[in-house]
Amino acid sequence: MTTATDFAATRAFFDLPEGVTYLDGNSLGPLPRAVPERLAQAARHDWGGKLIGGWNDAGWMEMPDRLGDRIAPLIGAPAGSVTLGDTLSVKVYQALAAALALNPDRRVILSCAGNFPSDLYIAQGLARTLERGHDLRTPPPEEVEAHLSEEVAVLMLTEVDYRTGRRHDMARLSARAHELGIVTVWDLAHSAGALPVDMAGCGAAFAVGCTYKYLNSGPGGPAFIHVRPDLAQRIDPALAGWLGHEAPFAFDPDYRPAPAVMRMRVGTPPVLQMVALETALEVWDMARIEDVRARSVALSQRFIDAVEASCPALTLASPRAPEDRGSQVSFRHPEGYAIMQALIAGGVVGDFRAPDILRFGITPLYLDEADIDRAAESLAHIVNRGLWDAPEFRARKPVT
Ligand SMILES: *Cc1c(COP(=O)(O)O)cnc(C)c1O
Repeated sequence: MTTATDFAATRAFFDLPEGVTYLDGNSLGPLPRAVPERLAQAARHDWGGKLIGGWNDAGWMEMPDRLGDRIAPLIGAPAGSVTLGDTLSVKVYQALAAALALNPDRRVILSCAGNFPSDLYIAQGLARTLERGHDLRTPPPEEVEAHLSEEVAVLMLTEVDYRTGRRHDMARLSARAHELGIVTVWDLAHSAGALPVDMAGCGAAFAVGCTYKYLNSGPGGPAFIHVRPDLAQRIDPALAGWLGHEAPFAFDPDYRPAPAVMRMRVGTPPVLQMVALETALEVWDMARIEDVRARSVALSQRFIDAVEASCPALTLASPRAPEDRGSQVSFRHPEGYAIMQALIAGGVVGDFRAPDILRFGITPLYLDEADIDRAAESLAHIVNRGLWDAPEFRARKPVT
């Protein structure tokens, strides 16, 4: 395979602080260099200058669908099948509510124990609201396939486990689910911008994901939702907001859904966040997702090899086979929290997930071999000499 992507150029696209090795882009992507100027321009020129006219003259109203069309190719979805807005938790609610309505005679929501808490809480809350006896099942990730049956209404999974980086076989599970008449919802929070996704190929009904992780839209950036085109016209949105109406400015007292996925819009789009996202997405004009994946696999292997060779106290928590992993590498250690704090104090930034997971996001758009080597050396230095064992590293902060 020839590499079309110039990773020195993609690295220069981002503005990383001097002296920091950033392995937490799976949680919050870094700042693209052009964003502050674009935000200032949008604020001064469009908001400040055009005031309310910005909705018509600066293209604000179309942004969710325009940016949806830029994200669609990254997840293997056709143009016109993705829109943006709200947070991922809200998009999970919309997708799951619509999915359950497509399978009204069944009562089981199948997810897995490795899913992100918000996705599970949303399912629990929706089941309570519906009061129709829905049952959420969360077997261990490896056992999901064995739980597929004709009782299951919806299979709702996150492709890549946020703690371990374990990756579900999306094509296989979707195919098996569809044979059994199950509607599928995939959360691509740790997939979009991290690895190739083939929504059209796997035929799933819905996908959702966030943009502030591997798509670098900044804190609070809007989430995306994809609906399979042949289903979109059949969806009766649970959150029927005015901007998902066929004609918002008719101010009709009765809801009529907008065409296709546009009905999944709810209210006013976060314009300034979308300006940041639109700027961040320009990196994909110079990067191919296949190249990013190939380099992520190589850098991950380099990191695993280095840590296992130099740091025997840590245990690999991620799958060993690259095809079974997303774009992060996790290790376990009972003192993981303090170790991570010591690592961050030394300029290598990863994060910690309870009870004992040290997480490292592998993001080739702005990480290279030297970063990986530095991170592994720093980790070994801290763990092997017990440098983490200090009160300042043990004190828990609200965000881990
Ligand atoms: C990051 C993440 C979320 C966060 O949801 P927000 O509503 O954006 O805070 C939800 N689900 C998964 C699977 C995630 O990885």
